[in-house]
Amino acid sequence: MSETTYPEYLLKSGWNALLPARVPNAPLKGDQSADVLVIGAGFTGLAFARRWYELASQDRIIVIDSSEIGEGNPGRNSGFLLEVALAEDADPANTGRMAECNRLTQIAMQSIADDVAACGEPVDCVRAGTYRAAAGDVGLRALNNYRQFLEAAGLPYRALQQQDLKTELGSEFYQAGLYSPDCYLVQPAAVIRAIAARVPADITLYENTPALKLQKETDGWRVTTPEGVIRAPKVILANNSFASNLGVARSRVTPVYTYAGLTPVLDDSTLEEMGDVQNWGILPCHRLGSTLRRTADGRLLIRSLHDYGREGNGEEIRMALQDRLWRRFPQVTGTDFEHVWGGAVGVTYNGAPVWGEWQKGLFVSAGCNGGGTVKGTLLGRLLAEMAAGQEVPDVSALFGKASWMPPEPFRAIGFHLQSGLESWQGQQEL
Ligand SMILES: Cc1cc2nc3c(=O)[nH]c(=O)nc-3n(C[C@H](O)[C@H](O)[C@H](O)COP(=O)(O)OP(=O)(O)OC[C@H]3O[C@@H](n4cnc5c(N)ncnc54)[C@H](O)[C@@H]3O)c2cc1C
Repeated sequence: MSETTYPEYLLKSGWNALLPARVPNAPLKGDQSADVLVIGAGFTGLAFARRWYELASQDRIIVIDSSEIGEGNPGRNSGFLLEVALAEDADPANTGRMAECNRLTQIAMQSIADDVAACGEPVDCVRAGTYRAAAGDVGLRALNNYRQFLEAAGLPYRALQQQDLKTELGSEFYQAGLYSPDCYLVQPAAVIRAIAARVPADITLYENTPALKLQKETDGWRVTTPEGVIRAPKVILANNSFASNLGVARSRVTPVYTYAGLTPVLDDSTLEEMGDVQNWGILPCHRLGSTLRRTADGRLLIRSLHDYGREGNGEEIRMALQDRLWRRFPQVTGTDFEHVWGGAVGVTYNGAPVWGEWQKGLFVSAGCNGGGTVKGTLLGRLLAEMAAGQEVPDVSALFGKASWMPPEPFRAIGFHLQSGLESWQGQQEL
């Protein structure tokens, strides 16, 4: 288990590599003070900073990120931006709560779509919807639960059988699926660049500036970076799983790495065998299952595999991802990936976020559990409103509260046992 306070990836983000080079903001050098310091320029941190600026534009706001916009964690995901509650938040028995989660999530998604539209750059961001597909009994049961949630919540969907999936997506791997329109498929590195480009110039953003240490002082907080120090009465931890390695919520959130492989643009004859729909995404029914996409420019992406606490070996990952892709799409057997990369997901035991004021002046929104693009945008914004003393919806009633996890080494042992068992039970979905 790595104890570094920030992610240091071995493999570069494939999405970012497809974009034109971008000149990052300079790192922090020297000592600074701010009214508010946000650690992490992801979906959560940028949403917080921008909302705080709307509420207190006279304040000095500093945002630091250990990476560069687009190259870091927010630019490494599979690009599913769901407009409705995530499957793990879905609760067919509590439609009132779900309706409120969906309403808030849609507002957050709209703000991302507005940023993309306003950024002035072409960004691949289309409301293409998403498929959920099951290959075996475990997946079919989960698919049925999700269908009950969609029905209870009055959300539109289409049910698909194996032949429909073959016709639309070009794969016979799945037995059944559901299509729901409430999802954008995006180029995530381009989207986080678009969001960062909309940050007001009064907010100072330092890139390549990891927080190494967080200390309480009499009148606020002191954050140490490689070449400087920032003091602020309010510090916001929007750095997902790495909040725990700065000493916050250690017993609630932990980093788990997952991986993506992206093929080159496929040739026309292969694409002709790939089904009728040209820009699609499949989310797994099993939480250790694989996510798939066909991108607008004709590539396939697979996101799969998990490592506890540290990034795994690149070559082994490439081969395992290939195997999973080729089993689903024999049409691309032998096609190597152009890019393979990993990213850290902040995982909590019960899938709920760590959110709120952790200590006086120290706020946290962490634990994306693999679906924190839109939800992080929402929770970052709500955290700013809460920190400013505004009345906000009851986040723990809506999204839950991260439960306790045992310390190491029991946590790692528990993770391996649980994921081993779930992988065995749901092996057809992997
Ligand atoms: C391969 C993969 C696929 C995924 N697919 C999806 C998907 O399709 N849809 C979805 O919603 N989610 C997906 N996720 C999860 C998604 O990436 C996160 O939910 C989302 O990025 C969370 O946003 P965030 O701003 O809360 O945290 P993060 O994106 O983790 O951002 C935290 C930021 O903090 C920075 N940071 C960390 N530590 C420090 C430090 N000590 N000092 C300074 N900065 C620091 C990081 O560089 C990063 O920029 C996926 C994740 C991976 C890895």
